[in-house]
Amino acid sequence: MEPNTTTIESGLQTVKARIKEVAEKAGRQAESITLLAASKTNPHERLREAFDAGQTIFGENYLQEALVKIAALHDLPIEWHFIGPIQSNKTKRIAENFAWVHGVDRKKIADRLSKDRPESLPPLQICLQVNVSGEDSKSGVAPEEVSDLAAHVAGLPRLKLRGVMAIPELTKATALQRSQFQMLKAAYDELKRAGYELDTISMGMSEDLDIAIEEGATMVRVGTAIFGPRRYAIPEELAARQG
Ligand SMILES: *Cc1c(COP(=O)(O)O)cnc(C)c1O
Repeated sequence: MEPNTTTIESGLQTVKARIKEVAEKAGRQAESITLLAASKTNPHERLREAFDAGQTIFGENYLQEALVKIAALHDLPIEWHFIGPIQSNKTKRIAENFAWVHGVDRKKIADRLSKDRPESLPPLQICLQVNVSGEDSKSGVAPEEVSDLAAHVAGLPRLKLRGVMAIPELTKATALQRSQFQMLKAAYDELKRAGYELDTISMGMSEDLDIAIEEGATMVRVGTAIFGPRRYAIPEELAARQG
C-alpha cells in the first residue's frame, strides 16, 4: 500500500471532476481549461507520482528547488512553468529550463528572458502578471499599463505572448474575488481586441478555482487540492526558499 500515490491520484481526480462540473454549469467545455499542478515544496518523487497519474504540466515558484526536480525528472516529458516572482539575476536559468513563465510584469525582466532564451529551444511562452487587487505589495503590472507591456513583449524575438495571469487578494469575500478575476478577463479581452493572438487566462487556485472558471480561466494553478497541505520540512527546499 502506497498512501501517497493514492492521495495524489485521487486528489487529481477530484480536481478534474470539479473543473468539469463547474465548467459544464458555466456552459464551458472542460477541455478548454488546462490544469497546472503547482508543485512547490513537494519533492520530485511526488511529482513523479502525479505524472504517473496523468499530470504533465507542473508549475514551480522557487528556482533552486525547481532545478533539483527538473534534473531528477528529466526522463519525463514534463512541461515546466515558472509561476513564482522573477528576480533579474535568475532569468538565465529560468529561460534555459522552463517552457512557460507566468509572472512577467516588467520590461526589463522580459528583455532579459528573451536575451537569455537559448536558440535551440522554442520561444519562451509568456503570461503577463496583472495586479488586479491594487495592493502595493503584490507583483503585477497595473491594469492600465498592460497594453504597453504587451506591445513590448510581443516585439521580443525569443518570447511568445500567450496571455495574462493574476493572483487575486486572499479573501473570503467572493464578490471581491470575482471582480478581480473579471478585471483580468477584461485585460485579456482588451489585448485580443488590439489584435494579439492569445489563448491563456491563468487564474484560479485550490480555494477559488470555481469562481475563476466561471469568470473565464483557461488555466488553473492548483497545489494543495492535488498534493495536500504543503510541507516545508525538506532541507534542500528550505534552503531554496531562502534564495
Ligand atoms: C502555490 C501557488 C498556487 C497554488 O496554490 P494552492 O492554494 O496550493 O492551490 C497557484 N499559483 C501560484 C502562483 C502559487 O504560488
